[in-house]
Amino acid sequence: MSQPLLSIQNLNVAIERIPILRDVCMDVPKGSMVGLIGRNGAGKTTLMRSIMGLMQVEARKMEVAGENLLKVAAHGRASRGISYLPEDRRLIPSLTVEENVLLPAWANNIPDAAKRLEWIYSLMPEVREFRERRALQLSGGQQKLVALARALMPGRTLLLLDEPFEGVAPVLSRRLTEVIATLRKEGMSIILSESDDAHSADLVDHVFRIERGVVTAG
Ligand code: ATP
Repeated sequence: MSQPLLSIQNLNVAIERIPILRDVCMDVPKGSMVGLIGRNGAGKTTLMRSIMGLMQVEARKMEVAGENLLKVAAHGRASRGISYLPEDRRLIPSLTVEENVLLPAWANNIPDAAKRLEWIYSLMPEVREFRERRALQLSGGQQKLVALARALMPGRTLLLLDEPFEGVAPVLSRRLTEVIATLRKEGMSIILSESDDAHSADLVDHVFRIERGVVTAG
């Protein structure tokens, strides 16, 4: 088998000495989309934050494209094309949509930001349409699209989508599904978390289940 894009072995995370993730092992093949399914509090966000370098972790291995991520600072993710759509979106309400999307480009000095922005707009023409609006003027579902657009500015190889469908009305959910399916076709590797299989069932190649911090395949 070819080398997985992301390979995690025996990842353990504790918060205030309480184990939250236990011996997590997970491989994500290049260009595939995997589901991470588990109910609230199971540890999905903690696993994504660990991959993003935002948690103190212990692991036998955490590699992306063969590189040891345990030695890369959180801010080093962007230049490696690794990006995260947090569950709570975290847009800056007073900035315009376009400014929010461009923020990672300013923060990380992305050289081809203009070209990237054009590609993002072609993928999500509705985001182009409301690019001048302030983020606070958008519905929750529209804000998810913008947060996905922002994640795509640095996200070229590995995208972590934390419950992207949570709280999104059906019409926008369908739209989000289309966009995410397109990203997969473009060869991106994606981890998509959800509390059940409702939206991801048709999208993903493999499923991992997470229950009380323990991940199982299948
Ligand atoms: P949700 O959809 O509710 O966010 P999740 O599967 O993403 O669920 P996590 O947010 O990773 O779950 O939380 C996993 C466990 O870790 C939960 O029991 C939660 O209470 C605990 N936890 C997370 N962050 C903290 C923290 N800062 N302090 C204490 N416990 C925490």
